[in-house]
Order: sequence, then structure tokens, then C-alpha cells
Amino acid sequence: MAVESKHAETIALHAGWRADETTGAVAVPIFQTTSYQFRDTEHAANLFALKELGHIYTRIGNPTTAVLEARLAALEGGVAALALASGQAASAFALQNIARVGDNVVSSTDLYGGTWNLFANTLRDQGVEVRFVDPADPENFRRATDDRTRAYYAETLPNPKLTVFPIAEVAAIGRDYGVPLIVDNTAAPIIARPLDHGAAIVVYSTTKYLGGHGTSIGGAIIDGGNFDWEKFPARQPALNTPDPSYHGAVWVEAVKPLGPVAYVLKARATLLRDLGSAPSPFNAFLTLQGIETVTLRMERHVQNAQKVVDFLSKRSEVTKVIHPSQQRGEARRRADAYLKGGYGALIGFELKGGLEAGRRFIDALEMFYHVANIGDARSLAIHPATTTHSQLAEEGQLASGVTPGYVRLSIGLEHIDDILADLEKGLTAAGA
Ligand code: PLP
Repeated sequence: MAVESKHAETIALHAGWRADETTGAVAVPIFQTTSYQFRDTEHAANLFALKELGHIYTRIGNPTTAVLEARLAALEGGVAALALASGQAASAFALQNIARVGDNVVSSTDLYGGTWNLFANTLRDQGVEVRFVDPADPENFRRATDDRTRAYYAETLPNPKLTVFPIAEVAAIGRDYGVPLIVDNTAAPIIARPLDHGAAIVVYSTTKYLGGHGTSIGGAIIDGGNFDWEKFPARQPALNTPDPSYHGAVWVEAVKPLGPVAYVLKARATLLRDLGSAPSPFNAFLTLQGIETVTLRMERHVQNAQKVVDFLSKRSEVTKVIHPSQQRGEARRRADAYLKGGYGALIGFELKGGLEAGRRFIDALEMFYHVANIGDARSLAIHPATTTHSQLAEEGQLASGVTPGYVRLSIGLEHIDDILADLEKGLTAAGA
């Protein structure tokens, strides 16, 4: 059965696995093993030489994790995926795979704080410069590009601004230069498919909606197989010149019999081998369990969120509701172009009473969890000015879209009446 061509609901249940060949088990087994017996010396040699694909050691690959990878690649419309221990590992690997000392990457300013720190500090200390540009004008990416630019990076639906990134526009600029667009789609799985709009690589924190139940940290890189690395040898030396860390393999050549998977195979064969951010088979299993219902869950997340937006928009305690459904002009055009399955389940809103009202709101909630997370089955709330963004001066908070009275909600799957009742408690405490 060619599952890849079926609908997302079907792919989420069937891609990458049918049944265990020995036992007939239908659920994906947890292969809790570190290593794999080789059939003979020739088999072992072929695996190491990448002449044959198979498992060697769970740091580099595992059968449970492989099902997760196949399912993610199929859901996203890509050719192959690499599952990692966290979303942070995925964004780091995505750039480290092609950017080396002296190279640069152009990134949207609108990023998750952890990604920002990774880019602005850790990668800089490792010799890779990340140039941050305002995505409101896609041409900013072109302006920041030079001969050493190896990738563009952005999030589909970044919070707190919740302004959708111009995926096709920036991907097209990159394709002129041989620069791939890497998109973090963590906040919009199923509802957005960046590869369909020209992105080359998708990264995820599977910790959020894909896993969906708040049990397992995880990440993934999905290779679209749609980027012509070979056409730009000077621009993409990491994939086009002999790699001394893999007996001189030229990745675009070495993988030819396996398909257009040079990027993702290099990440596994070198970065995962050397840096070791492998997911545990148990976490891969839990993430797979989550993915089986992600299409249903996203539908309900989006429906509930839209009802919360309507509710908040009518409240006197609230001065502004931030959600793609509320945007107009170019921001709304982008939301409509890229969010095909609804406007997402993250909502920001500003309380008239500012910082103190924000505190009172959060403290009065009984059902919402007060956590620094998004994308759980449960509803979550946070007041960024006193938590995630408290290290920034007010000016920096404002630049990132956080006003003193800003509250972020991640709307879960509870009954909408119970969600609204809890918000009512918070708004009453916040005061008009
Ligand atoms: N990308 C986005 C958009 C996120 O929200 C997060 C975490 O909050 C990450 C990446 C990092 O993922 P993880 O926490 O799984 O390392």
C-alpha cells in the first residue's frame, strides 16, 4: 500500500509500519536495544560503507525511531527524516549540517527564545554567524545574503507575534542563490506544510503538538528532497566536497542510489554519530502514539481556539487579541496562504490592566496549567513579561511583541465551556 500518497489522517496511522514480521504485532514495538547483530562480515562492511541501509547502533538509528522518521517524512511530504532527542537538537543540527566556521545563516527575528539563544550565542561561539532580519519584508533575506550564506531559517507561526512567515517568497529568493529555507513548523503541524511552498527542510520540536501529550521531549529534521544541492557546489561545500569525517565521501554523490537524501543522511552519519543527540526508543514510541491522533487533535485545538478568540474579542478587560484570524492585510494574506487547516491554537491577548492584571489573571486560573510550554492536549497559559521574557528590558520585550499585559494561551482539548469558564475566572480577577 503506497501510504505516502494518502491523506494525512491515514498517513498518521499507517506510514512506516504494517506489522511485526515475526509476531504479527500491530502496534509499533519498542526496540529497546543498543546494538544489532550483523549477519556476517560483508553485511557489517556494507552497513558502515552506506552501501546498504540498516541498523548498527541506536545512537545512529533504531527500528522504533525509524518508523517515527518514516511517518514524519510522509506526513510532511518529504523524502526522509532524522528524529532527535529534542527540538533544540533539531534546529542546531539543521544549521550545523551545512554551516561551518566563517559561514553565516540569515534568520527571521521571530523565533522561539531557545532558538534565539542557540543562534545568537552558541553558534556564534562556534564560528557561525546568524544574521537576524525582519520577515515583514522578504527582501531583507536577500539583502543579508553574501557568498558565505548557507541557509535561511524561520518559524511558520512564531509566538508571541503569531504573524505567519512568508515561506514561498523567501524560499524563492533562496533558490536563486542556492540557499535552502529551513522552517520550524512546531506550532503548525498538519495545518501547514512548508515543503509544499518551497521550503527545503522542516524542523520540529515533536515535544509539542506532534507528541501532543506532554510526555516526551523530541525533535526532528525532515528533508524535502526538493533542493538541488549539487547545482550549487560553491554555495554548499559541506555536501559537495569530500568529507574527511566519512572517509572522503562527497554526500551528493555517495547517496545517489538512495535518492535525494544527501542532507539528512549526512546529518545522521556525521552529526548524530559525533554529537549523539539520539532519542530513546521509548520516547520515539510515545511520539508515534501522539502522531496517530494528531490530525484529529489539531482540528479540535483549532476549533476551540477560534471560540476563545471570539470570546476574548468581546471582553472589556482585553485591549487586543493576537491570532492570525484577527490579522488584516499582508499578515492575513500569508496566514491564508500557508495555514490551510485553520489559524492555529496559540493565542495572545493584552490585558488593559498591564503587568499586575497579567499576574492576577494567571493566578486566578484553575484549570489552565501555568507552564512554559505550548502544544499540549491540556490548555496552558503564561504571562511572558514575568517569565519567559523577564530577562529582557521592557524595550526588548516590546520588540519581541511582549507588552506588560500580554498573556499567551495554548488552547487544549478540554470542552470549550470549561475552557471559557476558566478564562472567565482569570478575566474577572484581572479586572476591567
Ligand atoms: N521550536 C519551537 C517553536 C519551540 O516552541 C520549541 C520549544 O518550546 C523548540 C523549538 C525547542 O524544542 P524542545 O523544547 O523540544 O527542545
